[in-house]
Amino acid sequence: MGKTVYSFQRFEKVTHLPGFISYVFLAGLLAVLSSCGNPSTETTQQPAYDLLIANGTIVDGSGGPAFESDIAIVGDEIVGIGDLDESAAARIIDASGSVVAPGFIDLHNHADRNIRESPGIENYIHQGVTTILTGNCGNSPVHFDEYFQSVEETGIALNLGLLIGHNATREEVMGNANRAPTPEEQAQMNALVKAAMNAGAFGMSTGLIYLPGTYSETDEIIALARVVAAEGGIYASHIRNEFDLVVNAIEEAITIGREARLPVQISHFKVADNTMWGDSTITLGLVESARAEGLDVTVDQYPYTAGSTGLINVIPAWARAGSKEDFQARLDDPETRARIKEEAIGILNGARAAGDLSRITIASFPNHPEYSGKTMAEVTEMNGHEPTIENGAEVAMEILYDGGGSAIYHMMVEEDVQRIMRAPFTIVASDGSAVPYEKNVPHLRNYGTFPRVLARYVRDEGVLGLEEAIHKMSGLPASRISLATRGVLAEGMTADINIFDLDAVADNEDWANPHQYAAGFSHVIIGGVPVVDEGARTAEFPGKVLKRGM
Ligand SMILES: [Zn+2]
Repeated sequence: MGKTVYSFQRFEKVTHLPGFISYVFLAGLLAVLSSCGNPSTETTQQPAYDLLIANGTIVDGSGGPAFESDIAIVGDEIVGIGDLDESAAARIIDASGSVVAPGFIDLHNHADRNIRESPGIENYIHQGVTTILTGNCGNSPVHFDEYFQSVEETGIALNLGLLIGHNATREEVMGNANRAPTPEEQAQMNALVKAAMNAGAFGMSTGLIYLPGTYSETDEIIALARVVAAEGGIYASHIRNEFDLVVNAIEEAITIGREARLPVQISHFKVADNTMWGDSTITLGLVESARAEGLDVTVDQYPYTAGSTGLINVIPAWARAGSKEDFQARLDDPETRARIKEEAIGILNGARAAGDLSRITIASFPNHPEYSGKTMAEVTEMNGHEPTIENGAEVAMEILYDGGGSAIYHMMVEEDVQRIMRAPFTIVASDGSAVPYEKNVPHLRNYGTFPRVLARYVRDEGVLGLEEAIHKMSGLPASRISLATRGVLAEGMTADINIFDLDAVADNEDWANPHQYAAGFSHVIIGGVPVVDEGARTAEFPGKVLKRGM
């Protein structure tokens, strides 16, 4: 093969370098040696480009206007954008009529939990996602070197970066204790966070509604965030309250950024309390004020009016504290049980269901697979009761007694979703995970976040411009975690690219049949390697573990 000639052509591009003459000499010498060993290639020119994406509409991720051009790739790198010579390419993808964009970067993902079981992560690949940031909402592996090694051994289809989770860190040091850490415990947590940062974490996440993170005071988090700040990381937070106290919770996240001096990423930004629907003007205003003050605060959002989390969240936090046995003991005590039920009724009448049990759908419930896909109204009826809120609270306590499951909560309104989406500091992110195909009833965001924004909010409703939307999926999230070679299409950048037909892009909007891959993405290329080619998944696993500063 004429590999050396190919090298020669690359060197031609750097004729301004002083070493040019010796490069030419060396390349020429190697070419002669190579052709001596393989006479049949004597007159064959190795193509200059491994891949040429021709005639596409390039939306480069910077937010700048789209333009028609070609993109050339050698190895894992973009080596040219412009009117390029098609005869110089080993392979040409004709992208006429299609959009060519940077691979999407999903800044809010949870696939660290199951990436080793589902390393193909097909539900994201088909959305044009090429990089995910996992370890969100306080939940992550704690020992990064070990984790990274096992992911690399299994192989992974797309690139993965990781945040260190506060909940996981706290649990490692303090178990489920409902108290402030001792100075020794704080020092141990700080050390774990520092070790994770040194191993390549992009920052720290919190999940302040979850155990045991919900037991932490702001000071504990500020101390940890200072460790993250010293290493150049970000603070990503599932804030303490997304319902009636959302304002206080946003203020807490901003305070942590101000005190610890680090960028703040507020996760899955939403207004989820029926008494506050429409108040995204207020919550966005808090972020705008913080930014005006000079603080680096951005948010991310999944483009749906439904959220998803454990069914256990219809139970008040104090009643969930400790172990499963603690929870059962509380339910076994009639007085405590009555108190839990009263508060659960309040939660169902307000934040979680707005007084309508059909707003909650069971996604998966390992102890009762027959509930999967049923609404809480239906589950209440299956248990022999009228679907009133009171009965719903009773049934929820009964079925949660032996173990939990996940639920989909239809708890937001479109007006807020769109207003949040339009904010220039809002990033598109899924809050999803690696979904095993056709198992359970996952939130549609797992399959449809990115195509839904493109199809519904760009093409059909014009809520966002195309360039703006792509920026929120690529350049903006890349800059958030300082990915130097990803997120924008330009010479010298890593060839993470997707090609889609904006007219054909479609997500699946069907909650009854959620396991459907996104449509419209003809090619998804990671590090120069197609993982989707002519619309079909290839057998490739070119993903890398990404580490901060890499
Ligand atoms: Zn979360």
